[in-house]
Amino acid sequence: MKRFFTFIICIVTACAFFCSGCNTPSNTVPKRCPVSLPGYSFPACSVEERQICRLDAGDPSAPLVLYIGGIHGNEKTGISLCWDLAEGIADSSIDISGKRVIIIPVFNPDGTAANTRYNINGVDLNRNYPAENRQVSKVNGLEPVNQPESRFIYELILDEKPEKIIVLHEALDCIDYDGPGKQLAEQMAAVCPLEVKKLGARPGSLGAWAGETLGIPIICVEFSEADSKLSDGQLWQRYKEMMLAPLD
Ligand SMILES: [Zn+2]
Repeated sequence: MKRFFTFIICIVTACAFFCSGCNTPSNTVPKRCPVSLPGYSFPACSVEERQICRLDAGDPSAPLVLYIGGIHGNEKTGISLCWDLAEGIADSSIDISGKRVIIIPVFNPDGTAANTRYNINGVDLNRNYPAENRQVSKVNGLEPVNQPESRFIYELILDEKPEKIIVLHEALDCIDYDGPGKQLAEQMAAVCPLEVKKLGARPGSLGAWAGETLGIPIICVEFSEADSKLSDGQLWQRYKEMMLAPLD
């Protein structure tokens, strides 16, 4: 009996060791992610074992604003703005006292590395959620949240219950919203060149699930084609106020 328990403990210990974190941590951290700064963690891995970087900042008891960049790997504008926001918070040039923020700058690191919309299994990480309008296909996922990246954000949203969600896309040149997000969309549009446009919740999208099913105000910022040609500095200058508007 004692030997049996020793065997079980060995199995559990081995699993805890091998199952925690990604197998290839050092070279799969997203560029600009300061691994050693407080607030940064790597709670999940992509299909190809790239680290998904998360920044937690602000007052843990305050309502949460969740920012997500790079859900589509060929859309880099939002990634740049997420890093600028994270760096501004880290160097205290952005004051978030009395507020709470989680930033996921590179949600689809495999797609970002390959410069493709989908994750490396060919699944659209913005069609893979258990919304009422979900459509089953290979691209949308044969099951809801059947990819490690979508499972990660699904669990994060259920666990952390954000008050607002901001997802950064391109290049439809507007600010779209789902669920009760109209007022927030107007607030953000008032301080940037993009106009509010209701595109309608796409099947099984994060907006359809978090916005329509869970009732969380969720914004899809769709940067313009021209924005994707700007430098990091030019982007931040153009969109800093928009990025900060959800924190008001
Ligand atoms: Zn997109």
